[in-house]
Amino acid sequence: MSESDAWHAGIRYHTQDSVHIILLGPPGSGKGTQAIRIADRYGIPHISTGHILREAARSGTELGRRVGATIAAGSLVSDDLITDIVRARLHERDAASGALLDGYPRTIAQAVALDAMVPQDGVIVLLLRVHEEEIVRRMRRRRVCQSCGITQTVPDADAAEAGHCPRCGDPLVRREDDDPDIVRRRLRTYAALADPLIAFYKDRRCYAAVDGLQPPEQVTTALFSHIARIRGDGAPPPADD
Ligand code: ADP
Repeated sequence: MSESDAWHAGIRYHTQDSVHIILLGPPGSGKGTQAIRIADRYGIPHISTGHILREAARSGTELGRRVGATIAAGSLVSDDLITDIVRARLHERDAASGALLDGYPRTIAQAVALDAMVPQDGVIVLLLRVHEEEIVRRMRRRRVCQSCGITQTVPDADAAEAGHCPRCGDPLVRREDDDPDIVRRRLRTYAALADPLIAFYKDRRCYAAVDGLQPPEQVTTALFSHIARIRGDGAPPPADD
């Protein structure tokens, strides 16, 4: 393999026992919350493509403006662009022992690209299943921290701003694309892409689906036990606290 092929494959940059956890699920399925917990527990970075793209959109560059318009419309950015972004991010030093991927891959083309980027024996694919009415209900109460990207559920669905981020203290705001009409568009986009994507992974030993309607703590427990089983650990690593 040439050095350039190796770079594109990313293999040289990952340690042998690296773990790449791919979290799939519709918008509003609780991916963000669970992603943070998994990343913290396994000591790997949480790579949220939505967060990266929203940051890019705020940067004010021409590319950022185009990305912002795409997100605001509830459409997807191109496979090539997001794949280049993820590849570059996976080559950063903190991702040498793996990463938690939230929001990528979303299409078969992205899944094929990812297969070539990370060592296959360390890949784990987890799906959070949540039905559509529950998602619409949740999204009305969802707010995000503009600074660190953390998402929170607020009591009042109609308040545009609601409280402060528990991590950095900045205001929580409704995401522009969490507007109910845009949410419906995003759900249609998700539904069209999710089935083929799930079919792409579902016969692999590294795949598991979890009921995302359970309380968040139970979802976390189920995800941890699937990760431990797939890694062959038997039990998840001990919690820090
Ligand atoms: P969601 O809550 O819809 O899962 P994300 O925060 O993951 O939202 O993504 C927000 C938006 O960023 C998406 O609607 C899409 O426009 C863009 N985006 C994020 N990840 C990808 C991706 N893998 N491919 C294409 N577009 C993406």
